Amino acid sequence: MALFFVGGNWKCNGTKESIAKLVSELNSAKLESDVGCNSIYFLDVVVSPPFVYLDQVIGSISNGIEVSGQNSWIGKGGAFTGEISAEQLSDIGCKWVIHGHSERRHILGEANDFIGKKSAYALEKGLGVIACVGEKLEEREAGKTFDVVFEQLKAFAEAISGWDNVVIAYEPVWAIGTGKVATPQQAQEVHAAIRKWLTDNASTEVASKTRIIYGGSVNGANSSELAKQADIDGFLVGGASLKGAEFATIINSVT
Ligand code: PGA
Repeated sequence: MALFFVGGNWKCNGTKESIAKLVSELNSAKLESDVGCNSIYFLDVVVSPPFVYLDQVIGSISNGIEVSGQNSWIGKGGAFTGEISAEQLSDIGCKWVIHGHSERRHILGEANDFIGKKSAYALEKGLGVIACVGEKLEEREAGKTFDVVFEQLKAFAEAISGWDNVVIAYEPVWAIGTGKVATPQQAQEVHAAIRKWLTDNASTEVASKTRIIYGGSVNGANSSELAKQADIDGFLVGGASLKGAEFATIINSVT
């Protein structure tokens, strides 16, 4: 059975009103790929609203779409002003959480081992983790793409006890929010390397069943070419996930 995953990362966007509109577009969208599980494939579709709108979205979204937090704290909740715990995400009905997004790595300074530990805790509490990795432009230009991505993967591997419930999102930093999408060949090259890394560092089984999704300027016009690549199992979409019809086009291009 082929396995796919499409995530919409809404980042710090939206109002009660715009989010109600987006949810209603998603609820009425015709998702040809019949989100969920059938005998041919398994497709998860997940949206990730800002924390303050999670409850609104969980209470109103349908069409088989699940909801993810954009972050969670490294351990049990308590005196950690401004943080949200994995238990709290589970409590309100979130199934997933995003960790290691480049905006948190590079704007907020989150380090590899901190991100790995947060993911380990979230997995322990029953959440699925969307584990983001990706190189900056200068790292790519210096020929360090694989080194950076493998170092980030290693930090996840050292902290977590297994790859079940982890989706790896390869998101080159230079492609995020820039309109400069990786070519299908550039993305496939890194996805294949990540799969090989999983074979070498986890197992063949983990490598074949872990979904490796691409993120960075994915839109309704470029998703189907990317989706044809052998090792691209879906997408993490930012800007284009804020438009219901376009996000549906992306979802339908995957299977
Ligand atoms: P983008 O963002 O699609 O707007 O480039 C992707 C992401 O940051 O997950």
